Amino acid sequence: MRYNRRVNEPSPSRCPRCLLQVRWCLCADVPTVVTHTKIVIVRHYREVTRSSNSGRLAAMALPNSVLLDHGAPGTPPTQLSADVLDGARLLFPGGETLGAASLPRTLIILDSTWSQARRMRRKVRGLEQVRTVSLPPVPTETPRMRASPGEGKVSTLEAIAYALGVLEGPRGPEVERQLLALFQLAVERSLATGRHGISLRSGQMSQGLPGSDDDNPEHEGK
Ligand SMILES: [Zn+2]
Repeated sequence: MRYNRRVNEPSPSRCPRCLLQVRWCLCADVPTVVTHTKIVIVRHYREVTRSSNSGRLAAMALPNSVLLDHGAPGTPPTQLSADVLDGARLLFPGGETLGAASLPRTLIILDSTWSQARRMRRKVRGLEQVRTVSLPPVPTETPRMRASPGEGKVSTLEAIAYALGVLEGPRGPEVERQLLALFQLAVERSLATGRHGISLRSGQMSQGLPGSDDDNPEHEGK
């Protein structure tokens, strides 16, 4: 497929940072959430210009995070550095449940659709040596920016929130609350545009943000 250069050039009517329409920009409301756990978000390049991409919001809120874009045509394969891989786990369905027995210092998240994530897991160099961990059961009956593809599947930002809720010890609940509040704010801003309907029932929600897409970076709880 031919790569469209314009895909990486946000519309002038959008905030260049959060990609929301300027009047709904939420940059000033993004909290700074300090964590011990390092979050590494490996984002599919097709997510880069989507305003519904929640990995972007996570990276904005978390000083101890890294956002790597993967897969743009003509770019070399993504190679995770030894620094990233040291003590890291990959959040992915099917691994051991995050908990007391699994407290990685670095958590890697794939920010893409499910089908892209399965390919990224094979293609991103270094991931083959990383063990996977999965979320504990998570609620999905909340308004969201894209449809949840199934029970227990949540957006990238929600997945990071729930994971840090476990990983950050006594501060976990507050970290989780701040990130989920940011997610809800983003959903509210998308609703405020009035351009898309959204249902409260998981699995029946239409996309909420202009320029968003349906197939989704989602993360599955057990
Ligand atoms: Zn903004």
